[in-house]
Amino acid sequence: MADGPGFRTAIYCAGCLHHCKGCHNPQSWDMAGGHPVSVEDLLADIKSDEFSNVTFSGGDPFYQVEAFTNLARRIKEETTKTIWCWTGFTYEEILADKRLSMLLPYLDVLVDGPFILEQRDTTLLFRGSPNQRIIYLTPKEDDEIPGAVPLMPLR
Ligand code: SF4
Repeated sequence: MADGPGFRTAIYCAGCLHHCKGCHNPQSWDMAGGHPVSVEDLLADIKSDEFSNVTFSGGDPFYQVEAFTNLARRIKEETTKTIWCWTGFTYEEILADKRLSMLLPYLDVLVDGPFILEQRDTTLLFRGSPNQRIIYLTPKEDDEIPGAVPLMPLR
């Protein structure tokens, strides 16, 4: 319930090279720190809860962008669930990189940018510092989230 609005199945991946000072989850930085799980198994877990939507977090899912794109594509093909994704990259950095941007068409909301300790604000919803944006990539998520950036057209 903390990883976006409502009930969500959250996938926490291993690996983050952003190394933000004050990161809430530094134990996730090690790129080899997790254990391999197949897209098929993750999809089965996600589909087993018919009410929950989906969150990708970590770590940074964009360091495993091919696998998360496969998973996100399957979620969109086989369910009506929405997907929120957290990343330390900015939306602009992702858009400028063909490989990273392959995941964007399957996401409903991107929460972007590194955590900046000096700007920490505990009143913000779903993010730690105000540089991080809640960016709606599809009109599917219509909950009113204070501070959210209105739809940013991608396609
Ligand atoms: S991007 Fe997120 S997980 Fe990665 S170091 Fe920054 S706060 Fe931590």
